Amino acid sequence: PDTVLWLRRDLRLHDHPALHAAAQAADGGRVLPLFVLDPTLLRAAGAPRRAWLLRSLRSLDADTGGALVVRHGDPSQVVPQVVRELGASSVHVSADGGPYGRRRDDDVTGALDVPLVRTGTPYAVGPGSVTKADGTPYQVFTPFSRAWHEHGWPAPAGPPPTGLRWARTVPSEELPDDPDLAGVQLPAVGEHAAHERWAAFRDEGLADYASARDRPDLSGTSRLSAHLKYGEIHPRTLLADLSRRRGGGAATFRSELAWREFYADVLWHHPRSAREYLRPGYAAMAYDRPDQEAVDAWREGRTGFPLVDAGMRQLLATGWMHNRVRMVTASFLVKDLHVEWQHGARHFLRWLCDGDLASNNHGWQWVAGSGTDAAPYFRVFNPVAQGLRFDPDGEYVRQWVPELAHLPGAAAHEPWKADDGYTGGYPQRIVDHGEERAEALRRYADVRG
Ligand code: FAD
Repeated sequence: PDTVLWLRRDLRLHDHPALHAAAQAADGGRVLPLFVLDPTLLRAAGAPRRAWLLRSLRSLDADTGGALVVRHGDPSQVVPQVVRELGASSVHVSADGGPYGRRRDDDVTGALDVPLVRTGTPYAVGPGSVTKADGTPYQVFTPFSRAWHEHGWPAPAGPPPTGLRWARTVPSEELPDDPDLAGVQLPAVGEHAAHERWAAFRDEGLADYASARDRPDLSGTSRLSAHLKYGEIHPRTLLADLSRRRGGGAATFRSELAWREFYADVLWHHPRSAREYLRPGYAAMAYDRPDQEAVDAWREGRTGFPLVDAGMRQLLATGWMHNRVRMVTASFLVKDLHVEWQHGARHFLRWLCDGDLASNNHGWQWVAGSGTDAAPYFRVFNPVAQGLRFDPDGEYVRQWVPELAHLPGAAAHEPWKADDGYTGGYPQRIVDHGEERAEALRRYADVRG
């Protein structure tokens, strides 16, 4: 019989357990690779993320020799329709543990008269599989990551099954053209690019990762996040490679992958935490109604705080922002402008190519102090001190904020101290950080009683 491989966040052919399951169920028959362009998901993605997805699909289509079938619409109508056209006996997916994905897959299961078979997930350990001895979920990262490591994961599933035959009998719609990227430059996209990126980082970046990862002025991180988001490479593949390496870099990198798994696990257990406070007490926290002018200055990188502005401009120019700067810019919105985290999370999710509900929204909750851990609600990032510490020569700031290009070295972080600090047209600071920090701490003290 022929089978359907319905692809979602698994746009690759290697290390793909659901592809193996589809081929095995086909038992000598053909496999039809299907992608559904679902308007509900596309609406949330800004141009860079949509372009990434479309390029990834083109790459996958080329790798299947042009067999990819693309359809627009509601999956609960499209998937059964394709099954009927092919006369398929089953539909195979990598399980999706997010709130929308779970609902959607239940709807599709209800609409199909053949089985929807879930094999594997976008994670090394499926969300929901690691629990405490009493069966309750972990709330704190460190014990989770220990249990996650002890739980372990299977070896990579290897190359596509031998003898695999793609079905080519069902018509595909054209993939839309890339949206207007307004100058945003994306790196190479797709499974091959993901493997090349990983190999380059593994061989050249991993050894220094533990010390370089916090430095936005260095290319110290893997830049794999959007490749992982779309499943162009599976974390299992990375973890298998890491297990053959010694040294702090490998352990630190594994721990970062564990954060990704942790947040997916938290979302699986608490689907509402994508929008609502994970610690309900924080819902009572006093926030200001967003001052549109200040929020626009934050979005566009015109706050007058060089590190914040560099980060926000990097996001708009590239669809990516360095992790340290994500924390600083998020903290600025929540603790200096007193705007609720959901506003910032929406902006990030729209513009990040790696925009992912679990990692993004829990990253924001972590910064807001309302998320996992006894997160240090009292820690208010000082954007100037962070800049001086993690971009010590001011290179990152000068790269993204040309109005500060005339200030040498660390002086770029404090234009107010230089006689010619503002000659490039850079804006004055929109708030007094010391005052807003004190204000944020007063508000936190209120909710913590
Ligand atoms: P590397 O340092 O090379 O890390 C390797 C991989 O580990 C990353 O690709 C990512 O998959 C994972 N990882 C690393 N740090 C984290 C973390 N803190 N949380 C979860 N996973 C992590 N990451 C996303 O993938 N999507 C998001 O939408 C996202 N939004 C964020 C929002 C905020 C406010 C914050 C503070 C962090 C967010 N992160 C998000 C986490 C992190 O910033 C990015 O994963 C990282 O910057 C991606 O760059 P990289 O691949 O070079 O990272």
